[in-house]
Amino acid sequence: MTGTDFNAFEDTPYTLPVFFLGHGSPMNAIDDNEFSRAWAEMGASISERPKAILCISAHFETTGTSITAMSDPMTLYDFYGFPEELYRVVYPAKGSPELADLVIKTVRSVTVRKDLNWGLDHGAWSVLLHMFPNADIPVVQMSLDRTKDARFHYDLGRKLMSLRKKGLLIIGSGNIVHNLSTINWQDAAYEWAVDFDESVKQLIESKNHDLLVCYEKIGPFYRQAIPTNEHYLPFLSCLSLQEPDEKITFFTEKVTLGSISMRSFKIGD
Ligand code: ZN
Repeated sequence: MTGTDFNAFEDTPYTLPVFFLGHGSPMNAIDDNEFSRAWAEMGASISERPKAILCISAHFETTGTSITAMSDPMTLYDFYGFPEELYRVVYPAKGSPELADLVIKTVRSVTVRKDLNWGLDHGAWSVLLHMFPNADIPVVQMSLDRTKDARFHYDLGRKLMSLRKKGLLIIGSGNIVHNLSTINWQDAAYEWAVDFDESVKQLIESKNHDLLVCYEKIGPFYRQAIPTNEHYLPFLSCLSLQEPDEKITFFTEKVTLGSISMRSFKIGD
């Protein structure tokens, strides 16, 4: 498809998986490491080529819900103080105004505004350029609503279910544990961060989504693990797309930089 053909988003005989990716440092965009290699493998593991990608990134926060609707989204360098090389990366994927329309139509009960000013932030492109290095699949981003809570973002994710059967790949990009104030630029992990990350894994495995939404009840370390929830919310939007009979496969299960969980997973096949 061209990325602009609305009729291409018809029902398909297959259901695409959903990914949640712990993106971590923007440097993962240009580093060849265990994370970037795993993302590349995951991109290659998808048996049906996605017609388009809907990305929910921790770095796109708005008042109300927005969806990018431009034809040629810019690569955004929404970080400071990194090596020059990182600011030269361009991810030239097209947008898809038609997919933006389809999302607006699909969620219905939540007003979604078209956005023509954002683009692709590093939460999206730093992982997509490993998963889909040819940048030949159109990408749109849906924002987090900074006025809404965790339950809203879980429920909003669920409303996207039918898109998985229309050849659309949904990717959440954030981090389950994300505390920049305690970050330590080494491949090491605080005990509390590992503890919280492990608790979340167990709750995912036991399908206790209610407790994952009410994350302040998960245990004593939630304040350190989730000091602000923008990196956690994309995880909830993805988790809500798990059908009862679908398996979850974990990858890059590691806490690094002290307080960043890179835990990622795939829902379905
Ligand atoms: Zn981030």
